[in-house]
Amino acid sequence: MSNFTFRNPVKIIFGKDTISQLSKNIPAGAKVLVTYGGGSIFKNGVYDQVVAALAGFEMIEFGGIEPNPTFETLMKAVELGRAEKIDFILSVGGGSVLDGTKFISAAIPFEGGNEWENIVLGKSRYKTATPFGAVLTLPATGSEMNSGGVISRKETHEKYGMGSPLLYPQFSILDPTTTYSLPKVQIANGLADAFTHVMEQYLTYPVNALIQDKFAEGVLKTLIEVAPKVMHDQTNYEDMSNFMWAATVALNGWISLGVPSDWATHQIGHELTALHGIDHARTLAVVLPHLMRYKMDNKKAKMIQYAKEVWALNGTDDELVEAAIQKTTEFYESLGIPTKASAYGIGEETVQEIKKRFTDRKVKYGEKSDIDAAATEAILRMSIA
Ligand code: NAP
Ligand code: FE
Repeated sequence: MSNFTFRNPVKIIFGKDTISQLSKNIPAGAKVLVTYGGGSIFKNGVYDQVVAALAGFEMIEFGGIEPNPTFETLMKAVELGRAEKIDFILSVGGGSVLDGTKFISAAIPFEGGNEWENIVLGKSRYKTATPFGAVLTLPATGSEMNSGGVISRKETHEKYGMGSPLLYPQFSILDPTTTYSLPKVQIANGLADAFTHVMEQYLTYPVNALIQDKFAEGVLKTLIEVAPKVMHDQTNYEDMSNFMWAATVALNGWISLGVPSDWATHQIGHELTALHGIDHARTLAVVLPHLMRYKMDNKKAKMIQYAKEVWALNGTDDELVEAAIQKTTEFYESLGIPTKASAYGIGEETVQEIKKRFTDRKVKYGEKSDIDAAATEAILRMSIA
């Protein structure tokens, strides 16, 4: 196991009827900017619960934060927050609203201008951020318990990860009953995103971090076990609770302690969303199985372990490596998520555009920093074949 330092300050408030605890967790007298998305919170009663819980607080609203939140939209919220001199931001929705809120939180007090370069691309070490909390309505990203976000720019078709230790939510309220209204496709996306988060931190090379491997395998097995149940019935409280907490644990920093991580699948996936608007989780499913094949020699030991421990398979080493790819592919497909980029009409032109971007940026992703532009081209070629 490698050395690590860990601190995660997010207060998690988990369970039924917990939105009512909002007022206890926001500083008394705070002027609150409530951020939300396209309106799902009006249909499922979450907005009404939030308004009731915020009685006594001065509340301002900013809605319309889109999936894959854009810099263009978010800057309007920043202007509103600055003009209204708000003290606290409450994100109500999924990962997109929350990621967007993280950007807004950093940008409101920032005085250096050019927020895209300084905050999203991280050129400035900003020193303050407006405190914020979250009511999460979609298990998927782990954003509720981490300090990262992913922001898109419409103008240039770009999508970048950003983050700062200042951008942990003060608290996140996770009431599994708020997820009952999710469209099936978002449940599938959430399962696929959380699953891939674990894979990116587990399927690398062994470092004798037995406890970390067991945590990761436990989250994967939980997601695999609850997936068919929640796809069938998303109103079972225990199943949705397990799904929701598994998705949080998948990316709250815990399983990555002391082990290498990959993240190439996410980086390539972000380009597919930026260029084609494909849902985040769906981009991961068209990359990971092919990345596993491309890196099967490098990742061999972990792929064998994964096949045995997570999928309870036996066989020769070569059979287990093949089965690891097969089972991963089948997991995505079982959620109705394609594992080929060609399913979205993506072809050579996109492969070349991503190759060019990665060449220009001189990126090297993966646990061995060997997923460069050429490797990305090879992986995507397999996905469009
Ligand atoms: P999302 O983009 O936040 O939401 C997807 C859709 O689900 C929206 O149309 C939303 O509608 C709807 N929705 C949310 N909750 C609902 C509910 N309870 N009932 C009905 N509809 C509901 O999805 P997400 O998967 O959570 O977030 C994806 C974004 O997170 C991507 O940009 C991705 O890159 C990013 N991400 C971030 C991290 C991180 O660590 N920060 C990790 C992975 C991915 P409304 O807009 O109407 O609410
Ligand atoms: Fe993700």
